[in-house]
Amino acid sequence: MIVVPCRYMGPKDKDYAVAFALPTDWDGVKLLTRPASFRKSEHMEFPAGNFGDAETFIIFDDVFVPNDRIFLNGNGDPRQTAYAGFLALMFAHYHRHSYTGCKPAITEVIASAAALVAEYNGIEKTSHVQDKLSHLIGTAELVFAAGESSAKHSEKAPSGTQVPDEILTNAGRRLAGEMIYEEYKVLADLSGGLIATLPYEGSFFSEDVGELAMKYMKRNPRVKPENVLRCFRGIEAFAVSEIAGLLQVAGLHGGGSPSMETITMMMRYDLEKLKNISKYLFGIKSKLKRYERPTVTPRKQLEKFRKAMKGKKLEK
Ligand SMILES: Cc1cc2nc3c(=O)[nH]c(=O)nc-3n(C[C@H](O)[C@H](O)[C@H](O)COP(=O)(O)OP(=O)(O)OC[C@H]3O[C@@H](n4cnc5c(N)ncnc54)[C@H](O)[C@@H]3O)c2cc1C
Repeated sequence: MIVVPCRYMGPKDKDYAVAFALPTDWDGVKLLTRPASFRKSEHMEFPAGNFGDAETFIIFDDVFVPNDRIFLNGNGDPRQTAYAGFLALMFAHYHRHSYTGCKPAITEVIASAAALVAEYNGIEKTSHVQDKLSHLIGTAELVFAAGESSAKHSEKAPSGTQVPDEILTNAGRRLAGEMIYEEYKVLADLSGGLIATLPYEGSFFSEDVGELAMKYMKRNPRVKPENVLRCFRGIEAFAVSEIAGLLQVAGLHGGGSPSMETITMMMRYDLEKLKNISKYLFGIKSKLKRYERPTVTPRKQLEKFRKAMKGKKLEK
């Protein structure tokens, strides 16, 4: 595991201004893990039913970290605390960029389920359904486009890795985070309440009520009741299960909550340069330099940091 600080820090935070890499079974590392999975299926296996997730609350209880595994040590050198925020943001940045690739896929799964259930419910041609599906598709496309574009506008770090554009990455990730509950709302809306009231799988295969239960799953005459059941069970898993709750919160907070993306964007966007456009258009300024997106790249930010490290500014 690679451990980095989670926010900006000052010399007083030096004990926590550390970054290092360790194996997860290292002495003193306590992993408090909570797994989540879909309800087990006995009669109707389906590929998504194998998904699972484990999140871990990690405690470092007096852990020894060898020097060659330490990247940042604010305790050894309090001046290094200045890099804590930089590392936190760089980690968040790559994480947010990866979200612009993985999150559209989740939206597409939701959109796919919403489109299918709309068909099975016999409402797919109605205008409100088309409108709602178009918003799901539009969100997936826009988030993906932001990620692709941020990769296109990336800059090479001295290490050789490409650093994606921060404004585009954060704008895409924020849109994904802001829309997540809206996406589930559309899915629940078009599905109807059955996703939350569906009997357990066993009921549909019991000698007693199985046949009756399956009979009343019939909705659209063109769709076999068993497929209707599969569709609603799948959506129940995606929208009403323990994993569904986790995916929703992960969609909102993973890599940073939307406000964090706003803060990062506004730190990197030069508003003075932006205002120059209006100043020129409104005749307040007579000239406008060739306009370029007024962003501060990570490289420029690092240069600023290095300068600050040399001067007194840092102690302030
Ligand atoms: C399922 C899941 C998986 C995760 N996996 C990982 C992982 O693998 N690795 C990892 O490192 N992290 C992981 N995280 C943690 C995730 O990065 C954090 O949850 C996220 O960054 C939000 O931080 P937080 O939970 O501390 O909430 P907070 O930052 O405390 O947010 C709570 C509220 O406070 C607001 N807020 C916070 N700070 C400010 C401020 N300065 N100004 C104004 N408002 C503020 C936020 O906007 C939000 O509204 C995971 C989270 C989830 C839910």
